[in-house]
Amino acid sequence: MKGSYIARAISRDGSARAFFEDSTAIVEHARQIHKASKTMTAALGRCLTAASVMGSMLKEEKGFVTLRLNGDGPCEGIVCVSDSGGNVRGCCGDAGVELPANEKGKLDVGGAIGKNGSIYVVRDTGKGEPYVGSAPLTNGEVAEDITGYFAQSEQTPTACALGVRIFPDGRCRAAGGMLLQLMPFADEQTSARLQNNVESLESISLMLAEGAGANEVFKAVFSGVPYEILEERPVEYRCACRREGYASALVSLGTGELEDMLSDGEPIEIICRFCGRRYEFSMPEIEELCRQAQERVKRYTQEGGQREPGSVD
Ligand SMILES: [Zn+2]
Repeated sequence: MKGSYIARAISRDGSARAFFEDSTAIVEHARQIHKASKTMTAALGRCLTAASVMGSMLKEEKGFVTLRLNGDGPCEGIVCVSDSGGNVRGCCGDAGVELPANEKGKLDVGGAIGKNGSIYVVRDTGKGEPYVGSAPLTNGEVAEDITGYFAQSEQTPTACALGVRIFPDGRCRAAGGMLLQLMPFADEQTSARLQNNVESLESISLMLAEGAGANEVFKAVFSGVPYEILEERPVEYRCACRREGYASALVSLGTGELEDMLSDGEPIEIICRFCGRRYEFSMPEIEELCRQAQERVKRYTQEGGQREPGSVD
């Protein structure tokens, strides 16, 4: 399978920018990690694609974006995290949820996510406080929720198309997305033209399944509007988990919990919910972490900290 990639284009007058991603390989990878059902491969796939595009919109190299859809549907929420290169990971409450096709005969993503709830976006630029925005879900189908989020929380007119196509055996056949944003100075004629183009855009996943890529999609999106493609770069499903990260999370649990683990007398295994990697901590290692937690309590007491030792922010 061809690797996933993201491409960026801008109208020649600078008033509109567009992103296109072929995320087929990312979505198929996610399906395998999470053993996702067809409906959940589509749901997770749309969210992963959107998060990846939003991550790549960051200017800060060390930044990342977290996209969370908390709906009242049976999948119990989806969360995806992308770095500024568009490399993304994601997980959900229950990847096994399968629903009958919706009234349009499509995979019922809105049913799995739920139509009531919220979309949250955390943009961490790596400098200072992260930016947190949210909006109510529009319909749980993801693309409209993203559009609604940008309109409400960031006041940016945005068009978004996301699609995932699945083979009968459940594998991902094609997945991708397009996001178009208008700058505040865009003239009416250009915006009307772009809006019209987007409305008549064929389904992204169908275009991809038929072999189209960034060139064809941008050609359709910018039809009648001069534009140029700025860059195209590979993106992948990538988890940033590290053993040290889990070790410090264990220390944060505090001495009480760690002592309980020690008295259980069993090594503990932590499975990363984004990538399925397993981390085992042996008894001597837990003892060492417990010692670190005690040190931490001591430091707090000496510093006269008010905060409960070992509390997690
Ligand atoms: Zn991981």
